[in-house]
Amino acid sequence: MSTYTESIERLIENLIKFPGVGRRSAERIITYILNASAQEVETLAQGIIRVKQNVRLCKVCNNLSEEDLCRICQNPHRNKEIVCVVEKPSDVTAIEKSGSYRGVYHVLLGSISPLEGKGPSDLKIDGLLERVKQNCIKEVILATDADTEGETTAMYLTKVLKPFAIPVSRIGVGLPFGANLEYADSTTLSKALESRRSII
Ligand SMILES: [Zn+2]
Repeated sequence: MSTYTESIERLIENLIKFPGVGRRSAERIITYILNASAQEVETLAQGIIRVKQNVRLCKVCNNLSEEDLCRICQNPHRNKEIVCVVEKPSDVTAIEKSGSYRGVYHVLLGSISPLEGKGPSDLKIDGLLERVKQNCIKEVILATDADTEGETTAMYLTKVLKPFAIPVSRIGVGLPFGANLEYADSTTLSKALESRRSII
């Protein structure tokens, strides 16, 4: 039987639902909470609620945003003619950190994964095609991960983008197979973007 109080035990059960948080980590977080000031804990709890209430997806690119359009889509200095397609919002953050990209993004919110039963219809692909149809997009850069799912997704996108007759390229040089974009360092990402190869 647990020696913790009922409220601690309940919080542990909730914390271990977080990705990467096991029981030991949950216990450490609770120790931190117990040692922190009431104000700090209040700020933390409010912060979680505020993120949940305010953060939504950008209506254009599906990046995380607190307004209809994310900051990148709103920025008049970004080149709206080049779209970099990524799997998740954290990939946008990784590429932005590299500081070498001035175009806009399209976040698919996943990748094609037959093993997990995820097909093209589970991703935000229609929105991408709609953007290509309606806007003057002159180039699409496929920056999905360098693993099997990412490559499968890139191949599928190449196929559906082909009829639009715009240049489509794939980043890759410098990224080892299996690499997750969000964990690649800025220099590698800059080089991968620079050395993208044309597919169409
Ligand atoms: Zn956006």
